[in-house]
Amino acid sequence: MSRPRKVYVKSFGCQMNVYDSHRMADTLAPAGYAEAALPEDADLVILNTCHIREKAAEKVYSEIGRIRVMKEAAAAEGRRMLIAVAGCVAQAKGEEIIRRAGVVDLVVGSQNYHRLPELVARAIGGGKIVDTEFPVEDKFAVLAAPRRESIRRRGVTSFVTVQEGCDKFCTFCVVPYTRGAEVSRPVAQIVTEVERLAEGGVREITLIGQNVNAYHGAGEDGADWTLGRLLRRLAQVPGIDRLRYTTSHPRDMANDLIAAHAELPELMPYVHLPVQSGSNRILATMNRRHTRKDYFTVIRRLRDARSDLALSSDFIVGFPGETEADFRDTLALVEDVGFAGAFSFMYSPRPGTPAAEMADQVPQEEKAERLQRLQALITRQQRAFNARHAGCELDILLEKPGKLPGQLVGKSPYLQAVQVMAPHSAIGSIARVTITEVGSNSLFGALADDRYAPQLAAAGA
Ligand code: SAM
Ligand code: SF4
Repeated sequence: MSRPRKVYVKSFGCQMNVYDSHRMADTLAPAGYAEAALPEDADLVILNTCHIREKAAEKVYSEIGRIRVMKEAAAAEGRRMLIAVAGCVAQAKGEEIIRRAGVVDLVVGSQNYHRLPELVARAIGGGKIVDTEFPVEDKFAVLAAPRRESIRRRGVTSFVTVQEGCDKFCTFCVVPYTRGAEVSRPVAQIVTEVERLAEGGVREITLIGQNVNAYHGAGEDGADWTLGRLLRRLAQVPGIDRLRYTTSHPRDMANDLIAAHAELPELMPYVHLPVQSGSNRILATMNRRHTRKDYFTVIRRLRDARSDLALSSDFIVGFPGETEADFRDTLALVEDVGFAGAFSFMYSPRPGTPAAEMADQVPQEEKAERLQRLQALITRQQRAFNARHAGCELDILLEKPGKLPGQLVGKSPYLQAVQVMAPHSAIGSIARVTITEVGSNSLFGALADDRYAPQLAAAGA
């Protein structure tokens, strides 16, 4: 009997790529591909790439170099390994990838991975395959549903893409070009997927989209539903205890979404709301279509709805034309808001975007110096946010084994990682935990309810 085929999918970049990678593996399963734990064991290695910054794209080529060595080792054993490049670099670069890295067999764009079984079969037949056309069919309708055993293996939290693409055209961003126009999945399709995940043991769903709060999918009644309405519907799915959504745009923070934070106990009090800059002048040249005042207004309304709401954000430093005064506006905005965490990046010119052509590009050293100052401030705020929870009781969704024997790691409502001694059987439950210690990357706690006391005593913890 021939050995079953194996696929290894490696994700780069955002959560949407993690979700896409799972769906690629699910789609290849009916074609006989099991998931490999290591790339060297695989017959097909898929690199699911990110093009958001130059560094992210360059990483792909160094990874291809590493996989090439594995491909050669497999060939020496008489085994054929195919290398596929998927995702946003594939979408943006297409054939150039095969020209630059001849070892690659298949290039598949971010909208075409539902065609993988057919494309892989063609690549096995010989020749180099490139498929980066935006398809007419609905990728999500064609994709295989997540399989029960895959759901169990992937854990008690899951991403679900509800919206893809973007029509905002911020002047620095490649997403509208690599992911295409904004499309929302119909509510019924999402509900079916979430029900299936819940049946497989998933307790927390994070709805994802490049502009998730612009969601406007066809509802169960035929009308267009907002993200707020979709969240209210998903809160009713049996077994789903927690809901989150990311990434939002400040302009699309609609009233009913803000109201959902006041109404739904399942909706976690943590919102990732990128602002990019605190300078109105820079926000305008970024084409963000909001001012710093608009941002403050949205935050005030969110905090009015849910007083304990924690916030994170994305920042770009050194956007073309950014002066020291503009940058100080960003620092002042961070001071005023008080974030639980944030991502910050040096501006990276992306070919084909308007900002790459702008005059007044900021020198690299200046970008690096500003990034350091901003990150120091954000780190201080993150530590202060975590320190505030010392001695508090929090509800922790226990997700997986922790670093030490007998330990589990879970997440607080505010997305903090919490390590706690608890029996393995508690994975998937929400436990009341007293925070005993605050570390630099995670919190430590002790179970505050005695539900698991007998098992802990038996384990000698
Ligand atoms: N849709 C989201 C939004 O509206 O902010 C985020 C999209 S993007 C995948 C994630 C983050 O990457 C952005 O928020 C931005 O901070 C950063 N980013 C995007 N393009 C960039 C560039 N050219 N240089 C540096 N950072 C960039
Ligand atoms: Fe990119 Fe987000 Fe702007 Fe869309 S809204 S163009 S995804 S940064």
